[in-house]
Amino acid sequence: MRVIQWILEQIFPSRCAGCGIVAPDGICERCREQLPFVEEDACPKCGRGAARCLCGKRYTTAEGNEVTFHFSPQYQQLVAPCYYTGAMRRGIALLKFHGQKRHALWMGREMARSLQKQMVLSQIDLVVPVPLSRSRLRERGYNQAVLLAREVAGILELPFSEQVLIKTKENAVQHTLSHHQRLLNVEGVYAVQGELSGKCLLLIDDVSTSGATLSSCGQALYSAGAEAVVCCVAAVTVRREDE
Ligand SMILES: [Zn+2]
Ligand SMILES: [Zn+2]
Repeated sequence: MRVIQWILEQIFPSRCAGCGIVAPDGICERCREQLPFVEEDACPKCGRGAARCLCGKRYTTAEGNEVTFHFSPQYQQLVAPCYYTGAMRRGIALLKFHGQKRHALWMGREMARSLQKQMVLSQIDLVVPVPLSRSRLRERGYNQAVLLAREVAGILELPFSEQVLIKTKENAVQHTLSHHQRLLNVEGVYAVQGELSGKCLLLIDDVSTSGATLSSCGQALYSAGAEAVVCCVAAVTVRREDE
């Protein structure tokens, strides 16, 4: 550890996303065990446990947004280790809005573990993150999906690229929109640089709510020749009544 990192760690020690105790990993063992894990029989399209499948269903998220999960998303499978509640939800907020990049480490581990257990593809050629637009990237300084994708790729020993999929237009933030608006909002927003003929891709993001963003990215990847697209997110949202 570099000296400056060591000093920072003494002043601002890493804290658990769940209970706030000092935890170098970003999550303590107890909170890790109590993460809101998705059941093992997850639906391949919406990533929720089979009994909680939301495919094509209208629902209200815990944040009060009315959404419908995509009817026929443009990817083969969506894998998520957790639901977007509890320590996972707090960890994502810390990662995304408070600059605490270390939370990508434990989330990446959980994502890799779920992929090893559930992924339908036996081979992945490239891991790609859902991109941010240039202006959003400038604002935040980093893309949380890149941090997660790099972590997952490292653990699974897969090649990774943040140059392949790019965002060509600035659009409204998804969670402010209705389902129909969400679909229109992400249409034609993503583009692929290069050729992906016959390639199997693993697409990474932090959270999936309606599946519209992943599906739009999937469409761009398939249009560039991809043979298969599997998605993995740290968390999938839940219905308000299930929270
Ligand atoms: Zn804890
Ligand atoms: Zn489903």
